[in-house]
Amino acid sequence: MNFKDYIRVIEDFPQPGISFKDITTLLQNGPVYKEVINELARQLKDVEIDCIAGPEARGFVIGAPLAVALGVGFIPIRKSGKLPGETIEADYALEYGKDKLAMHNDAIKPGQKVLIADDLLATGGTIATSINLIEQLGGNIIGAAFLIELAELNGREKLGNIDVISLVTY
Ligand code: IMP
Repeated sequence: MNFKDYIRVIEDFPQPGISFKDITTLLQNGPVYKEVINELARQLKDVEIDCIAGPEARGFVIGAPLAVALGVGFIPIRKSGKLPGETIEADYALEYGKDKLAMHNDAIKPGQKVLIADDLLATGGTIATSINLIEQLGGNIIGAAFLIELAELNGREKLGNIDVISLVTY
């Protein structure tokens, strides 16, 4: 299945010069969405994972069903001010814009093997910040999984020697 056929590209969103990869057109197709999750699960079947963490909002759309498929827990990484319990926070920069990410400070037990999942790897800023939070909690990052990778933005380099998988590359 060629997942690219189901992803819509919208130019100049959310600002001029950005070529936005819109996955809503893929998500609305049940068999294709299911195959995305199955394919990621297949590629991860031999990896020991205790839990999956994903940044809001599209990280939930990939990370949560992947966690169910692999039979592990899901940990939401949220924008500042959204989580009800005690949190740790870190600043992050996007391909466009800037924000703060937060996690509950008891979300991960020291030594847990954590996979990070998101819809798209661009500059790697979101995932680098997620890694920072998870490592502050003592988590052990064992990899990162994406539906899409924007290769020219070199996000992989920012993630150092962490194993990265992605299903579609632009
Ligand atoms: P990064 O932090 O630069 O790697 O940007 C990745 C984050 O920005 C992900 O959480 C994406 O959801 C979002 N993002 C950046 N570019 C796009 C895009 O073209 N389509 C959808 N999401 C994007």
